[in-house]
Amino acid sequence: FTCPYCMNRIITVTTPVPGVLTWLLCTGIFVAGCFLGCCLIPFCMDSLMDVRHTCPVCRKELFLYKRL
Ligand SMILES: [Zn+2]
Repeated sequence: FTCPYCMNRIITVTTPVPGVLTWLLCTGIFVAGCFLGCCLIPFCMDSLMDVRHTCPVCRKELFLYKRL
């Protein structure tokens, strides 16, 4: 992959970020009457998070992979 900003050949760094799906699940669990801490579970699961790809050289955000 070539970074469009600094033109370096890079492998993107992936960072999980809370996305729409994460918040929906959080709200869903909360409404279902779970204990307060349970609604934070989605934030601990990478598979439910959006994934942000950033360039390791110039640290710009290249794209965001959304679950929804
Ligand atoms: Zn770059």
